[in-house]
Amino acid sequence: MAPVTVTILGSGTSQGVPMLTCTCPVCTSTNPKDKRTRSSIYLNDGDEVAILVDTTPELRVQCLAQGVTRVTTVLLTHAHADHLFGFDDLRCFCMANKARMPIHASEETFAVLRRSYGYAFDPGMHVHGYVRTDAFPFPPVGESFSVGPLEITPLPVVHGRAVTHGFLFRRDGRKLLAYIPDCKVLSETAREAIRGVERLVIDGLRDEPHDTHMTIREALAAGREVDAGETILTHLTHHKSHADREAELPPGCRVAYDGMRFTLGEPLA
Ligand SMILES: [Zn+2]
Ligand SMILES: [Zn+2]
Ligand SMILES: [Zn+2]
Repeated sequence: MAPVTVTILGSGTSQGVPMLTCTCPVCTSTNPKDKRTRSSIYLNDGDEVAILVDTTPELRVQCLAQGVTRVTTVLLTHAHADHLFGFDDLRCFCMANKARMPIHASEETFAVLRRSYGYAFDPGMHVHGYVRTDAFPFPPVGESFSVGPLEITPLPVVHGRAVTHGFLFRRDGRKLLAYIPDCKVLSETAREAIRGVERLVIDGLRDEPHDTHMTIREALAAGREVDAGETILTHLTHHKSHADREAELPPGCRVAYDGMRFTLGEPLA
């Protein structure tokens, strides 16, 4: 079976890094790892798996930067602007696939999408070149769906008032990856589902407490609590440079950066 490669397309918080108007040392850093577009990932095996998780405002430039030329499935974590409002850029992938794009999301996210992008869901409004979709609402909590060889479980998590999900990706029974970019607290369901996961990519916003996001300390504690093989922090702010942040982390923990790649089931390079 073909290995599945994961690319971190974006690793930044909702405002991105550099942040507009900010002249702090991180926002003016010349290190490419201090340039963070809004958070999303792409999974690809060159065959049945070409999965995009979230359609950020930078979707187009992320795909150009990372050489993403094929998307055949889209998963959406929640309906916040930083995860959703590059949605219209899916049009090129629809045209290339000559097919409707399967979208997996919660009913709450679909409600926002239908308000904002009615033309993508209403066949009566379809015009050549528009985004066309097949909507797949998440199964009941705890249940999974399959894309090629991957079993995908939506994980409800606490993230302020927004109904929000992360995802667990399994293959042949192995818990290979949990991706939870926006989260203040793991739900009991999520905690049990990801226990023993080989790699956890999780919201590690900053050091200072935040109402809707985990701090670095909370994210690392979550990784230990679920016994993750490796914990990778994402959705980061401009408060600390990539190099300084990475240097302070314990073994087995890393900081994501735009363009970071790894293969499911294999150690980080
Ligand atoms: Zn976010
Ligand atoms: Zn700054
Ligand atoms: Zn959010």
